[in-house]
Amino acid sequence: MIIKHRHIVSIALALLLVACSPDKQEEKTEADNNLQPVDAVSGLEQGLALINRDGIEAHLKFLADDALQGRMTGTPEYDKAAEYVAGHFAEIGLEQAGDDGWYQAVPMLARRIDVDSAKVVFHQDGVENEQTWKEGFVMGGDTVRAETSITAEVVFVGFGIDAPEMSYSDYEGIDVDGKILAMFGGAPDTFPHNERAFYSSGLTKSEEAVKRGAIGIISLRSRISQKRYSWKRISENAGVRPGMSWVNLSGEAANYFPELQGAALLNIPPAEDLFKRAPISFEQALDAAEAGEPLSTPLGTEVTLARRTDHETISSPNIIAVLRGSDPDLANEYVVFTAHLDHVGIGAAVDGDTIYNGMYDNAMGTALLIETARAFAAMPTPPKRSIMFIALTGEERGLVGSDYFAHYPTVPSDSLVANVNLDMPLLLYPLADVIAFGAEHSSLEGVISEAIVDEDFVLSPDPIPEEVLFIRSDQYSFVKQGVPSVFLVPGFTSTDAEIDGGVLFNEHLKTHYHQPSDDLTRPIDWDSALRFARANVRIGYAVAEDNERPTWNEGDFFGDKFGK
Ligand SMILES: [Zn+2]
Repeated sequence: MIIKHRHIVSIALALLLVACSPDKQEEKTEADNNLQPVDAVSGLEQGLALINRDGIEAHLKFLADDALQGRMTGTPEYDKAAEYVAGHFAEIGLEQAGDDGWYQAVPMLARRIDVDSAKVVFHQDGVENEQTWKEGFVMGGDTVRAETSITAEVVFVGFGIDAPEMSYSDYEGIDVDGKILAMFGGAPDTFPHNERAFYSSGLTKSEEAVKRGAIGIISLRSRISQKRYSWKRISENAGVRPGMSWVNLSGEAANYFPELQGAALLNIPPAEDLFKRAPISFEQALDAAEAGEPLSTPLGTEVTLARRTDHETISSPNIIAVLRGSDPDLANEYVVFTAHLDHVGIGAAVDGDTIYNGMYDNAMGTALLIETARAFAAMPTPPKRSIMFIALTGEERGLVGSDYFAHYPTVPSDSLVANVNLDMPLLLYPLADVIAFGAEHSSLEGVISEAIVDEDFVLSPDPIPEEVLFIRSDQYSFVKQGVPSVFLVPGFTSTDAEIDGGVLFNEHLKTHYHQPSDDLTRPIDWDSALRFARANVRIGYAVAEDNERPTWNEGDFFGDKFGK
């Protein structure tokens, strides 16, 4: 009820202002000074009024069309999508904010494994037990080296986590120096959400493994991961798409651990085999992981991991624009909206279709980014802070474009006050709530929950912490540089009591996520799409108008780890 009331008040104020406008126009400066809150409300509403279905739909039809071939990073089709976004930024009247016009070229090293060379061999009782590519295992290429081959004993280390503040360690009393580690993805579900997300990150795990002298990692599938995706789904595109890393100014690949010379992901039967000579069975390892209890042990088997990798230097742009703020001081600070423009390109045929269009992932986020920019640019007075809009490259290759920008921002790094990221907003049903992953870590939570009220949304907590979504999209690149950030997505609650949003979300994840069927045939609830788009603008507006820049909460896990 408060919701409706607030909405009516703001419309009433806007109408009042319109009614008075003939005289007021003449004395705009004075009116600005006297009536700033009213004027600000009306300015925001003028921007919001521009958001409509046709605008968003036109972008979707272009970006998710078969002609764009799934917008794989580094392809001419991605570049076509980049030109499209830049063209719209120009038409809207934004400032160029790349280091080359609209563009920030991201230099990358692409790697493609030679699948015929990929080898996983178990040495058991004098027998060489060679595993089968795709059926038994998959692996990616080495980031830098053309050829790697290691043979070493394997030690099972649970999730591969050492978390002293959680009194949890998979490494206690275990020597892994010179060993290959076998570990599950994810983190114990006994961890609070934040810790679970942080420790699930492959980067965190690799750092820990290297610190302890490990030389390779074999990944195992936990029960959660088995339930989430079939092996067929995981393996069908193995070796098809290149991996990518950004390259720093001295030409070194980012997030690279040369100490780790081998990696593979095992299917269940080989994983069971790997535990045959161990003091515990694979089943017991799964049980321990499910219970969140360490059960680390050497497995009594030597394994060889080998592969050859082809490398190529490529470049793919982030597309960056700015709407200059209206406050002389605060205009030097930026609220950053992001959405990744790339998707996964061409892949294995599913029902005869090889084009992975990525309509929801993330043509939708990009379409909303462009229309958000249009709304801001239409406001008679821009908000106090500047607003930056970035269509990012390389998200699907491992948050590559965002991590590069966060390391080499085109404006001073301490001027980035917040990031609001859009990735795969599923607008499948009449929405009652939104989720802002990461909001609870900073003052953004309060700002966001207030800003969305006028679109009849409430802010809901993370309903699926096991997916650790907070570390799985581009906002995490900003978080790691200390910028308070949120990943804004539609919630699971529908205004229609008959609809279970969680069921529809999971159905999308299982059936359409990263599949050719995430295309223009997917349903869109347009009323919710428009409310969600407007909520995004309101959030950015509120952050940009606030006299205080967003701050990490006192004692926050991510704030303490990364905040400056
Ligand atoms: Zn994706």
